[in-house]
Amino acid sequence: MLYSCMREKKNWHYGRQLACLLVMLWGMFICLPGTQADARSRGMHELTYFETSEVKVDGREATRVEIGMDRGNLDYEVSVSDGEPNVLQILMQKTRVGEVRQDIKVHSHEVKGVQFQQSGRRDLVARVLTQHEKLTEGDYQVQVLPAERKTRLPYRLAIDIFHGQVQPEQPQVAGVAGHTIVLDPGHGGSDSGAVGPDGITEASITLPVARDVRDILQASGAKVVMTRDADVDVYGPNASDHDELQARVDVGVNTPGTDIFVSIHCNAFSNPAAHGMETYYYPKTDADYRLAELLNEELAVAGGRFNRGVKEARFYVMRHSAMPASLVELAFVTNPEEEDLLASADYQQKLAMAIARGIARFFGAA
Ligand SMILES: [Zn+2]
Repeated sequence: MLYSCMREKKNWHYGRQLACLLVMLWGMFICLPGTQADARSRGMHELTYFETSEVKVDGREATRVEIGMDRGNLDYEVSVSDGEPNVLQILMQKTRVGEVRQDIKVHSHEVKGVQFQQSGRRDLVARVLTQHEKLTEGDYQVQVLPAERKTRLPYRLAIDIFHGQVQPEQPQVAGVAGHTIVLDPGHGGSDSGAVGPDGITEASITLPVARDVRDILQASGAKVVMTRDADVDVYGPNASDHDELQARVDVGVNTPGTDIFVSIHCNAFSNPAAHGMETYYYPKTDADYRLAELLNEELAVAGGRFNRGVKEARFYVMRHSAMPASLVELAFVTNPEEEDLLASADYQQKLAMAIARGIARFFGAA
């Protein structure tokens, strides 16, 4: 009896030790960072952060693109795009784009833009559009940057594009040298203009397009004056519609030798199905129609959207500018498909080139 009692006690003691051991093992299991990371990596990475900067790496200057995400342990592959030797592609496994824009225009030394494209069901491709004509291995490097608690920076992929020897060639048009052109990016400041279903504003499209047109024309020898070159009201705060429009007209009036005035807008309509491009004129000189017609022809070819034609209208900036003037409606920001196009850096550049070509043809024909 005594013996068996002791055995029972001993068994109970072993049972308690086993329980302690199990608790300890379980504790070790949940505390092991590797194990936790492994468990997490089974989920999807979601992009939460995007930034570009100019950096110096090992004495070489580079444009750095940082793509941040909500968790670490990213598996990725880097390659130069087959058909586009200026595009660096990073295939990010088990990643979705999250709150980061899918098509980001970048104004930096070496990078023009970054696009994110879904690849299959689970992977994401970051396409870094560089200024290099042809990327070779020494032109870039990709590394992982850990999350920083102090600065609250997330786990990031840092893509460095090293400055090349050759400067990119700015596209040009022939026949505009010596001419003076006023470009009017519609809206801005207190007036965002029309807003698309994804929240893209007209003012945020008209400015980069106008800047691209300006860069092309200036590189081609023209003098270009913008009514605005930032997200501002041209007149200033609290202007009436009339004051604001007259302030834009005044830029043309006050710029000596202004040859033409081109106002850039996006269309809007209550029905999201409305779509297409159109250009406007007011027949105050012999050349107003011609300018609108040439812009229309070039935008139709480059933009590839439905052409609503060349239309007469009494818009203030066209009527009150002394020189030939046209107002272009690039597409409908209220149409989901056209909103996506209008927000894309590539499409903006295409439309800008079309406007520059139309202007070049106008001077060629004049
Ligand atoms: Zn507008």
